[in-house]
Amino acid sequence: MMTVTAYAAASPTADILPTTIERRDVGPADVLIEIQYAGICHSDIHTIRGDWGPQTYPQTVGHEIAGIVSAVGSDVTMWAVGDRVGVGCMVNSCRECENCKAGLEQYCWAGNIQTYGGVDRDGTVTQGGYSTHIVVDQDFVLRIPESLDMAVVAPLLCAGITTYSPLQHWRAGAGRTVAVVGMGGLGHLGVKIAAALGAEVTVLSQTLSKEADGRAFGAAHYYATSDPATFEKLENGFDLILNTVSAEIDMKAYLKLLRLDGVLINVGAPAEPLPIQVFTLFGNRRSFAGSSIGGIRETQEMLDFCAEKGIVPETELIAADQINEAWARVLASDVRYRFVIDVATMEQPAA
Ligand code: NAP
Ligand code: ZN
Ligand code: ZN
Repeated sequence: MMTVTAYAAASPTADILPTTIERRDVGPADVLIEIQYAGICHSDIHTIRGDWGPQTYPQTVGHEIAGIVSAVGSDVTMWAVGDRVGVGCMVNSCRECENCKAGLEQYCWAGNIQTYGGVDRDGTVTQGGYSTHIVVDQDFVLRIPESLDMAVVAPLLCAGITTYSPLQHWRAGAGRTVAVVGMGGLGHLGVKIAAALGAEVTVLSQTLSKEADGRAFGAAHYYATSDPATFEKLENGFDLILNTVSAEIDMKAYLKLLRLDGVLINVGAPAEPLPIQVFTLFGNRRSFAGSSIGGIRETQEMLDFCAEKGIVPETELIAADQINEAWARVLASDVRYRFVIDVATMEQPAA
């Protein structure tokens, strides 16, 4: 075992404070990564605050990880010391079920092993990326393309793949109208990726305060959802709606914005269930769908796509002692558009 510096929450209401955690020894198929940057995803906050159910504490969250390989196990063939790598939301899966065999490890029937708060094969609870080092199975490590700056790339590992995967699956592209609801961490990358795929993109945000940014990210249209006229004007307007909102919204109002055979893809994961009126789905033969991150193969494809298209997350780099302040700003929808922790600023915990 290796003792490393990390930031953790001791309870659902606690601040995120410096501590140490144990990482397993590097096994034959493992890679040791020295973490340089870790993105702050709203899922980190939902998890620690108990929105999705009871958790194990203390817990270190973070599943947008960018760093450098510093050691490899004896059987590792794909990675070498010095490689620029990333880790996202999963660190393992059963590898044997139909979905794993199809490269869709996120839908593993046995449940993929999440980067934090999951139960690893050795029975220990996994700890995430707000930390100086992580040990990960070689098959769950991603290659960061040379042209992507390590200091901004980390959010692609969750926010990027979570928007890329459904936009590809439901064929966002030329001739298709796509609305992105909520322009935070996921949403701003959803806008950039959908625009790069050739779709006509509309942002549906609470206010117009970020309109100039949305247009710069590639949106052709931008509306405030606080204005009821928005919902009248856009009725029957979209092939796809990507909902990235972390709170409950009025699904009926948004579903009515779908045209024939339109799909509302829900990636936001609020604490409470979302009520759906079936009659709203009957109209226009609409679909309500969910989507979870993306498989390892598709995550690599997304990183390469972003490198090719020059898509980079808009980030605000913070020191580790600013995590609590950053979380408060995410909860207040005051994020432009992803906080990234500079792991070099992590202090050793007080002895
Ligand atoms: P985020 O940065 O906080 O963005 C969410 C955005 O939603 C906010 O910036 C805001 O955008 C809008 N919003 C927030 N509260 C709202 C409210 N009460 N009413 C209307 N709009 C509101 O969060 P994120 O990191 O992008 O994550 C978004 C959600 O996706 C979270 O629930 C997260 O857990 C979930 N998630 C799911 C997956 C998956 O695999 N499905 C993966 C990652 C994250 P505007 O200011 O533009 O309105
Ligand atoms: Zn996430
Ligand atoms: Zn599986």
